[in-house]
Amino acid sequence: MIQIPLIFEQHKQGCRGFTYGPLDVPAAKSLDSKYCRAADARIPCLSELSVVRHYTNLSRLNFSVDTNFYPLGSCTMKYNPKFTERVAALEGFAQLHPLLPQLAGGGMLAQGSLEVLYETEKLLCEITGMDAFTLQPLAGAHGELTGVMLIAAYHKDKGSRRKYIIVPDSSHGTNPSSAAIAGYQVKVIPTGSDGYMDLEAYKKALDSEVAAVMLTCPDTLGIFNPQIKQIADLAHAAGALMYYDGANLNALLGKARPGDLGFDVVHINLHKTFATPHGGGGPGAGPVGVNKELIEFLPISRVIRRSDATFALDYNHPKSIGYIAPFYGNFGVILKAYAYILALGKEGLIQAAEIAVLNANYCQARLKKYYELPFEKTCMHECVFSASRQVKNGVHALDIAKYLIDQGYHPPTIYFPLIVKEALMIEPTETESKETLDAFIETMIRIAGLAEKEPSAVTASPVHMPIKRLDEVRAARQPDLRWKFQE
Ligand SMILES: *Cc1c(COP(=O)(O)O)cnc(C)c1O
Repeated sequence: MIQIPLIFEQHKQGCRGFTYGPLDVPAAKSLDSKYCRAADARIPCLSELSVVRHYTNLSRLNFSVDTNFYPLGSCTMKYNPKFTERVAALEGFAQLHPLLPQLAGGGMLAQGSLEVLYETEKLLCEITGMDAFTLQPLAGAHGELTGVMLIAAYHKDKGSRRKYIIVPDSSHGTNPSSAAIAGYQVKVIPTGSDGYMDLEAYKKALDSEVAAVMLTCPDTLGIFNPQIKQIADLAHAAGALMYYDGANLNALLGKARPGDLGFDVVHINLHKTFATPHGGGGPGAGPVGVNKELIEFLPISRVIRRSDATFALDYNHPKSIGYIAPFYGNFGVILKAYAYILALGKEGLIQAAEIAVLNANYCQARLKKYYELPFEKTCMHECVFSASRQVKNGVHALDIAKYLIDQGYHPPTIYFPLIVKEALMIEPTETESKETLDAFIETMIRIAGLAEKEPSAVTASPVHMPIKRLDEVRAARQPDLRWKFQE
């Protein structure tokens, strides 16, 4: 693997990217010296070709769904069809200014975009079985915070003071943190040996001070909880609301709807299930759906369809929790989801869910001879193994991940969910072919073999990457992120 020097290290005094011919017009008056810097900016001098090569080579170090298989569990790194990018780049959408005066009044220039927002909300309602959506939240965790704020507004409006939110110990870390940021205390329920939330512990924790129960379903073990209806009924009987973490909706599309399962509030990650891949800190969208009881608390603005079939923004919601994000959310991400849903249609979404679940079960079935499967059940969109067998020979989940990087794979999610020791959480998604899955599975089987016979081959990896093993603690505690100019 080539080592690429920093662009600063390639600086060569006098080098130029482009040279102009001699001036054939009068020189412009130079800037007043008070506007000029005292010394030249220390911008590296390079030829244009060196700059092009530098950044092209850097870009080739990027790992992405476009280059390699990316089975990062819970993140749904499925292929993002390129037509959605083209739709999002259409000038009429991409060039629309969010402060366009006509927008609030629903003028003609913004009608198309308002209609996209309106229709996306309706499509998400249909997919999830909810009554209304806000598209504003900018990420899954942001959607959770919005959802919990809606729950708080609901209880406050009823004059009921509630202090707690229940989450299972298998939950994504954002669940308890969103609950805490919204001002709640968190009660954590353990997972039973069957992989489901412990029902007895849940019943004990549930009382009139519980505001909501936050569940992920299928949960982070990739298992669908068949007791979900009972859990919801118990919560409702205690006056609590049911919150659905729908970050990963891939297993449910067209199969089951959170609204029908008894959930009152739902967030979904458009940047997992609906075209935009998760990760990299890029833009996301975490729309929140609610049932009728909570509509009046949704963030403003709301897009409405007027009797003359035009669309407008509506701010007249006195009980609204207010703005949760500037303007209308990450419009480009919403637009891509809209295009994606329309292109796949009902049958396509159902097929996506079926193949996602089939692919995960295929990986689970072929690998369970080689890796410990802590909860042996038909999985949904992802399967969770443990590297506990390999650990006996000193090979940890982290080592397996590093070895996979050397082999051109993005590792599965490791050490999550927290309740599985040495977790390896594999989410293949529906966009991968059987050939790709087979090649990955063969690599995983090879690693299991190496762990038996030659563990050092795994623990020494990566050997082909420009960056080898880091001292992760030192990297976090004493990060060295800045290049300093050598005087
Ligand atoms: C990804 C994820 C989240 C958080 O979504 P972000 O967009 O990363 O904030 C929440 N819950 C689950 C189960 C997730 O997989």
